[in-house]
Amino acid sequence: MSRPPFEVADLVRTAGTAFIERNRRWIRWTHIKVLLAIARCRTAALGGHIDECTRCGHRATISYNSCRNRHCPKCQTGARERWLQARQRELLPSPYLHVVFTLPPQLASLALQNKKVVYGLLLRASAETLLEVARNPRHFLPIPVLRRVFRGKFVAGLKRAFQHQQLNFSGDLSLLDQPKIFAAWLRPLFRKDWIVYCKPPFGGPEYVLQYLGRYTHRVAISNHRLISLANGQVTFGWRDSAHNHEQKLMTVSLDEFLRRFLLHLLPKGFVRIRHFGFLANRRRSTLLPLCCAALGAVPPQTEPETSTPRESSPLWLCPNCGAPMIVVERLTAAQIQLRSPPLRDTVAA
Ligand SMILES: [Zn+2]
Ligand SMILES: [Zn+2]
Repeated sequence: MSRPPFEVADLVRTAGTAFIERNRRWIRWTHIKVLLAIARCRTAALGGHIDECTRCGHRATISYNSCRNRHCPKCQTGARERWLQARQRELLPSPYLHVVFTLPPQLASLALQNKKVVYGLLLRASAETLLEVARNPRHFLPIPVLRRVFRGKFVAGLKRAFQHQQLNFSGDLSLLDQPKIFAAWLRPLFRKDWIVYCKPPFGGPEYVLQYLGRYTHRVAISNHRLISLANGQVTFGWRDSAHNHEQKLMTVSLDEFLRRFLLHLLPKGFVRIRHFGFLANRRRSTLLPLCCAALGAVPPQTEPETSTPRESSPLWLCPNCGAPMIVVERLTAAQIQLRSPPLRDTVAA
C-alpha cells in the first residue's frame, strides 16, 4: 500500500494544544496521552536507532522509534500483519463459518457510556452462544436459534450488570438508573429479532482472516481513508453500510474529527481480540494439536507471539546487498537533538 498523503498524526499536530484547550470540558488525561503518542510517533521526540547490514556493513540513517500505542494508526499495520500470520498457522483443514453478532442500535448510547461492560458482554455473550448452540447434535448453528440465544444471554448480562451497579447513566440516559425505568427500557429490546450473520466464507477462512484484520487492529480510522485537510476541514472516505457499502466522502471540522476519533478509544486494558473454545489461550497449545490429529493434519508450529514488536520491520533488508539489517545503536531524544541541525523541530503538539 502506498503512503497516505497525510496522517492522523498530521491532524493532531495541526490541531496542537489549542484543541485540548478548547475541549477542556470533556477531554481526559487518557485522551491527551493518546494524542501525544500519535503526534510523537516516529519523530525524534521518541528517540531512535541506527540499523546496519549484517553482511556488507551498510548503515542506514536514523529511524525514529514508534509509539506502540494501540490507538496509533501507524503502529497498527505491523501488528496486524503479525496477528494475521499467527492466525493463519492455526487454521484447521475443515469447513469454517463466518458469524457476526450485531447489537441493536438502541444500545448505542448505553455502549458509549459503558464501553468496558457492554463490549465485554458482547464478546462473552457471542462466544457462549456459539459454544452452546454448536454443542447441540440436533442442528448446527441455525440463525434463528443463534439470534434467540445471543439476545437472551446479552440481555441477562445487562440485567446482571445493572443489579451489580456496574452501569453508568448520564445525559439522556440518566433516568435509567431507576430499576423500573431500566426494565421498561429493556423490554422492547426483547421483542425484536437481533441480527446475526452466519455463512460459509467466500474464498475460505484465509479470506475471513484478511477481512477481520481490517477491523481487529484499527481504532476509529486508518490513515488511508484521509483525503484532505483544508481551512481546518478534514475530508475522509467512508462506506455507507445502509446503501450497499457505497464509498462516500464526509467533511467535518478538525475539532469534530478529533472528537470522533477520541470517542472510539478503547477502555484501558480492554482486550478486543479474545479466543474461546479450543483456541482459548490457556488450552490452545494442548487442544490445537489434538484437533489437527483428529483431522489428520500436521500440527502448526506455534511460535510465541511477541507482545513487544521490534521497531523496525523484520523485512527491512539492506538496499545494497539484500541481507537483513539489525539495530547497532540506540539513541535517546536528547542524543538525536545533539546530532541534528539545531533548527529542525519535528514535534508541535
Ligand atoms: Zn548489505
Ligand atoms: Zn505509533
